Amino acid sequence: MLHRETDKEKVERNKDLVFNLHSASIKWLEQYTGIKYPFKKLDFALIPSFQYGGMEHVGAIQYQANSLLLDEDPSQNQLLGRASLIGHEVAHMWFGNLVTMDWFNDVWTKEVFANFMAAKMVNPSFPEINHDLNFLVRHYPSAYGVDRTEGANPIRQNLPNLNEAGQMYGAIIYNKAPIMMRQLESLLGEETFQEGIQEYLSTFGMKNATWPDLINILDQKTQVDLKKWSEVWVNTSGRPVFKLETQESEQGIAASLSQVDMSGEGRSWPQSFKMEVFNPAQNGKKELEVVSADEPYEVNLDKSWNSFELLANSNGMGYGLFPVSYELLTSQWDELSELEKGAQLINMYESLLEPTNVGKEGQASPTRYIELLKWVLVREKNQLLIGQALGQLRNVYWSLLSDDQRNNVAPDLERTLFHCMDDLHDDPSIKKTFFNTFSSITITDNNLTRLYSIWSDDKTVSIDKLNLSENDYIGLASNLSIKMPEKATEIVAAQMERIKNPDSKRRFEFIAPTLSNDLATRDAFFESLKEEKNRETESWVLGGLGNLHHPLRREESIKYILPSLELLQEIQQTGDIFFPTRWLGQTLGDHNSQQAVEIVDGFLKDHPNYNAQLKMKIQQSVDMAKRASEILEKTAKK
Ligand SMILES: [Zn+2]
Repeated sequence: MLHRETDKEKVERNKDLVFNLHSASIKWLEQYTGIKYPFKKLDFALIPSFQYGGMEHVGAIQYQANSLLLDEDPSQNQLLGRASLIGHEVAHMWFGNLVTMDWFNDVWTKEVFANFMAAKMVNPSFPEINHDLNFLVRHYPSAYGVDRTEGANPIRQNLPNLNEAGQMYGAIIYNKAPIMMRQLESLLGEETFQEGIQEYLSTFGMKNATWPDLINILDQKTQVDLKKWSEVWVNTSGRPVFKLETQESEQGIAASLSQVDMSGEGRSWPQSFKMEVFNPAQNGKKELEVVSADEPYEVNLDKSWNSFELLANSNGMGYGLFPVSYELLTSQWDELSELEKGAQLINMYESLLEPTNVGKEGQASPTRYIELLKWVLVREKNQLLIGQALGQLRNVYWSLLSDDQRNNVAPDLERTLFHCMDDLHDDPSIKKTFFNTFSSITITDNNLTRLYSIWSDDKTVSIDKLNLSENDYIGLASNLSIKMPEKATEIVAAQMERIKNPDSKRRFEFIAPTLSNDLATRDAFFESLKEEKNRETESWVLGGLGNLHHPLRREESIKYILPSLELLQEIQQTGDIFFPTRWLGQTLGDHNSQQAVEIVDGFLKDHPNYNAQLKMKIQQSVDMAKRASEILEKTAKK
């Protein structure tokens, strides 16, 4: 292991586990694939501020140092994230390095296999974790995040020119493709699937292969027409909208769940999942096995079920926009498993983000949804669910509320989160999770003063078992500089003095201008990004952009949008593969106004022959702003 971490304790604390995770991953893969580790050695090199989580070079995997050397009290999520990352990179030795795609349009196959295998192999090392829930929260929200947008791309894309290979990567490959794979595995059965994979690896070892090559192998093992199946799932983008229709009659209720293709092409995504119907009047519950494709799924219920509540996709296997009953969460809370709660949270959030749903019967408004999330957060103990709820909370709070609404909900929301952190949880990593969201959403003077005391370590506020690392203090300093602009100069200077790690110090020096209260200083920082040499360390640039576009600075940062779009092609040519997407994400992700959307639409209109891949990335990145501005238009009190 090669590294340049100066904190010896940190290295000691992490080193053994890092080695063990690698050797466990190798053993697992040898067993699953039936093929010995195909190369002569496996080293790893830890790089600070590396722009990827990892890179699977044969012989020596490169990692982002912070992803392997964790701070004290890592959350379950971070521990899992590290194990998954190692599993992912090691899996590439078989999937990617032993069998390589024929051309870059199939670059996703190695990524989906690496993720798919990582998810399978992480399980034994974390017996206390609910893995189905983990798969759900790690894949669905981000897959939907792209697949619900106008710029959604299919899993498999055409790639005429290699210089655009980088644009193939994204959430569709990393998150939707594993969901598709799981459906494929459940269609074939685990054993048949594994046999197919082994045949694929031994047939194409040290050679090149395409996705259709794999489908050919698997197609011979099933009655289902896999080529047709793959056509919809792999070669086209988007997700079905599930529509529930009920008809009452003498005998009872006939319910039917059908897929609608919003693009109007009449596609359906063959899939199977579970669905639960609850009968609040009788405390009854039925679990239904849904097989959904061209034909609607139909079920007959007797009369006593005439006011049933529905939990679609209760086992988290299905994919699409599901009908949801918000009341179910509170009425059936004690009956729901962790996985079902996760599925319900995701269904509710996806439904909330549909502007056309606003005002429909039973549909929650953003402010109502914040109340629901608070209700969940004071009850839930599972860290993955807490993390999911807090992530949604931050998005709804910053994007879907007007300033007035936010100012109204803030005092009680801050109180609730502080209470969760201080009184309800003992686990330091859960405390940290709450603390991070608490500091992100805090805007009242009272709690900003509290955070300031915590940051300055003046001992007036102490939270038992909350351990903040140097990185946490740096994050807090950035956050407070933006929210207490009159103190920004003092905070930044003091924080700079306190930083011990030289790499962190250089990073903080770089982003310091973006924390300034002086707009001209921030403008100058943005201007400087137009020069390629100032964009060299991409993760620093992204950190700086995030500060410039902080939701509290929207009115001042909107002017950076157009020049950022104008730079995009150059960014793609000079930067690394994820940089254009992340550049756009940091630029557009925190905006929610009609004006911001118009700037983007105007740019696309003025560039009718714009690079198709980049256009899709722009449409993906502006999606949240688009939805938010439409929803706000309908829900924010004028
Ligand atoms: Zn990878």
